[in-house]
Amino acid sequence: ERLDIQTPHKNYPVIIGDGLRFKLTEFLSKSYSAYVIITDDHVAPLYLEDVKTALSFSTNVFDFVVPAGETAKSFATYKRLIDDIVALNLDRKSCVIALGGGVIGDLAGFVAATFLRGVAFIQMPTTLLSHDSSIGGKVGINHEHGKNLIGAFYHPEAVLYDTECLKTLPASEWRSGLAEVVKHAIIDSPELYHRMRQEIPTFDAIDLHTFAPLLKAAMAVKANVVANDELEAGMRKFLNFGHTLGHAIEKESGYGVLSHGEAVAIGMIFALRLSERIYHIALPVAEIIAWFKRLSLPIAIPKGLTSQQLLERMKYDKKRADGHIVFVLLKAIGEPEVTPVEDAVISNLLAEFING
Ligand code: NAD
Ligand code: ZN
Repeated sequence: ERLDIQTPHKNYPVIIGDGLRFKLTEFLSKSYSAYVIITDDHVAPLYLEDVKTALSFSTNVFDFVVPAGETAKSFATYKRLIDDIVALNLDRKSCVIALGGGVIGDLAGFVAATFLRGVAFIQMPTTLLSHDSSIGGKVGINHEHGKNLIGAFYHPEAVLYDTECLKTLPASEWRSGLAEVVKHAIIDSPELYHRMRQEIPTFDAIDLHTFAPLLKAAMAVKANVVANDELEAGMRKFLNFGHTLGHAIEKESGYGVLSHGEAVAIGMIFALRLSERIYHIALPVAEIIAWFKRLSLPIAIPKGLTSQQLLERMKYDKKRADGHIVFVLLKAIGEPEVTPVEDAVISNLLAEFING
């Protein structure tokens, strides 16, 4: 499967297929003076040797393994990587390869964007969630005061997505990524939504061969949204569908209790209900809830969280207009709209949602 991503600054291919890591050079448009592979200590034992073997024609292949997890997106890890890379005396024709999930993509991409004012960058996503993070051009690291506070817009030369790597991905990471795949379908069109519901009827029914075209479709949705809105003026906000409440749930239940995607799944159900209330329309909420259940995605707000607490958290978060919390709502499947919503409407529906 191949998808061509066009941005005002750069065009690059996304290649999706089984075993791509063994033949990655087939997809590089040129050769580089050096290859710097950045990966984490879960992915390295599984796939690093394969990638190094594929690059063995070059005598300048270096690898750096960082501890797995969000903490790798830190200034300290970034500094260590830059220190080590500077010591190699590489030139601007070098290439950084991100081999891993969204954490590695964001971190390695930021290294690539900043080292020598930017060197070539290749994304080799290994998680389902990185179908999302590997395109769109956002790279960066976290700061004590918040996630992704330091970063850049920097596009890769190519995204090489070896779907075989997804076989070793833990089920919890599958669920997290799946929620974002489904999100892309719901904000895109009834056609893609129905197709996904048919082709991924249950979590256990997922088969990597039928899944690759769906991944491509989900990535195309993100790519189109981003292409129409490179610097996040308007349409890019649609990608936040499910995220206003999702982020609040993620933070208030404590990071790690629910994965990001699981929290977003609950946030999507809420956004659908809120859309029905605000626009006085009927959406297939029951159908989506039933589907989420079969996908092992959570559909209810975790016990112990109160509507007051979640409302306060959403107010504290940044996406506000005129003092109102801003939601991505749906006028229909495939028709997202960014809408400020009054606190009272949110808290009433939250209370109903929490009480079943
Ligand atoms: P991750 O990179 O931490 O990967 C999740 C876990 O899976 C890690 O423990 C990792 O070691 C392990 N893993 C990765 N590939 C594996 C494989 N093939 N087999 C077994 N284990 C594997 O997390 P993620 O969910 O991929 O990404 C989350 C990050 O992405 C966050 O930091 C988030 O901010 C970022 N993100 C960025 C964007 C963007 O546009 N740049 C968009 C969404 C999310
Ligand atoms: Zn998300």
